[in-house]
Order: sequence, then structure tokens, then C-alpha cells
Amino acid sequence: MGGSTNMPTVLITGVNRGIGLAFLSHYAAAGWQVIGTCRDPDSAEAAAAVAGEHAAVALRALDVTDSAAVAALAAELQGTAIDLLILNAGLMEKASMTLGALDADSFRRVLDVNVVAPAMCLQAFKEHVAASERRVIVGLGSVLGSIGGNDGGGGYSYRSSKAGLHAVLRSASIDLRDSGVTAVILHPGWVQTDMGGEGATLSVQESVAGMTRVIEGLTPADSGRFFTYAGEEVPW
Ligand code: NDP
Repeated sequence: MGGSTNMPTVLITGVNRGIGLAFLSHYAAAGWQVIGTCRDPDSAEAAAAVAGEHAAVALRALDVTDSAAVAALAAELQGTAIDLLILNAGLMEKASMTLGALDADSFRRVLDVNVVAPAMCLQAFKEHVAASERRVIVGLGSVLGSIGGNDGGGGYSYRSSKAGLHAVLRSASIDLRDSGVTAVILHPGWVQTDMGGEGATLSVQESVAGMTRVIEGLTPADSGRFFTYAGEEVPW
């Protein structure tokens, strides 16, 4: 990677489309050193275009559910301080959303991508984050993972996966407190992506502009908390 070594570094998972791609574009334009991961960089045209325009952006192949690959990338990046780790890659599948029609394999896939994988990424990169100046870890959670806020029912695999992710970030906020790491959950809003659909209320740019503003304003006192893209606190 080129660019100034004084700029902060961000690692983002799932940068080939949707919110992850908008995070990639945002931090690239802001001049950060960016490590963007996606399953298949060769077919990630939009992300490759961002990398083509910004020397400080590097794309790396990573299936987040491949914990050996996660550990290998972390080992390769040993010595690289990561100021901001964004656990963005996520999955929603209709086949495990409705009671009476739950498919166990689909349910497991969603838990694997949304809970196990971010936990393994957090574990693999926590020292890189602790060695940085800003020391921030963000998990892309959802109001759908708020148990107190669930008055709609349904959404079995997705709701439980995001509730699980929230638990992961909350525990990490406590376990990494002595390392000075700030770990939070952000709800991006309802966003126009493949997952959010066309009826969603926010563009990826609006959502990411809000989230990056919230990230910028985080202090260690915010660790273990859950905020929307607009900076409002959400009950667990
Ligand atoms: P998209 O479905 O548009 O994109 C999902 C991203 O996750 C893709 O880059 C996808 O890559 C990646 N991904 C999925 N599985 C894996 C895997 N095994 N390894 C690596 N990458 C993977 O979703 P959004 O951009 O909308 O969502 C981003 C995050 O925000 C998710 O965690 C989502 O749950 C959360 N969120 C989104 C909301 C919305 O309204 N859109 C609302 C609340 C939360 P690939 O192309 O290879 O599948």
C-alpha cells in the first residue's frame, strides 16, 4: 500500500457491495489506509475501481467464515496497526426467517456469517487494533437484533444472529477495556442494498455518512453501547 503512513488504517469486511463498498469509498476518499476484504476481489469491480483510484486502498480475498483464512490474514498483517475494524459482512436468508418453515442449514449459515465469523475476526485482529492510535471496533448490528425492541416476531435466524453479534461486541468491550479498545454496535438504518431492498429509506451514502460521523465521535466511555447511524442509543 502507498500513501502517508500517518493516516489511520481501517479494515472492512465485505467491501464488494452495499454498505461495505460505501465504507470503502468513504475512507478511501478521506485518505485513510484501507484494507478491504471480500470473497472474490477478481469479480469485485466497484471495489477494484476504488482501489484503482487510491493507492492506499488494498483489496484482500477473505471468506469471513473461513477461520483459517482469517487467522492467516491476521498473521500476514502482523505489525500493521488497525485503527478501525469494521465487521460489516453479513447474511440474511428467507429460508430461516419464518416459524413453521425454518431450514436448519440456512439458520446455521446465517449464524456462521453473522456471529461466528465476526467473533473470529475480532479475535484475530484484536492485537492489531490494540496497537493502533484510535483502537475502535465496530460491528454492524441491527435493531432487529434488539430483544427488548422485538414486538414484530419472525425473522428467526437474522434476529438471533444479530442478537448474538451484539453479545460478542458487548463482551469484547469488557474484555478489551484494559487494552483501550472501544467496541460498539452500529445499526445502519434501513438501507437500499441487496439486503435492505429497494423500499429501504436510506441510501448507502446517507447511512455511511451517519455511521462514520458516529465513529469519529466515539470515546472509550461509549464502549459496549449500541447506536444508530444517527447517533441515537438503542436498548439491547
Ligand atoms: P448486502 O447483502 O448488500 O452485502 C452483504 C455483504 O456481506 C457482501 O459484501 C457479501 O459478500 C458479504 N458477505 C456475506 N457472506 C460473506 C462471507 N462468508 N465472507 C465474506 N463476505 C461475506 O448487505 P448490506 O450491505 O445491506 O449489509 C451490510 C451489513 O449491515 C450486514 O451485516 C447487515 O446485516 C447489516 N445491516 C443492513 C441493513 C440494511 O438495511 N441494509 C440493516 C441493518 C443491518 P458477497 O457478495 O460475496 O456475498
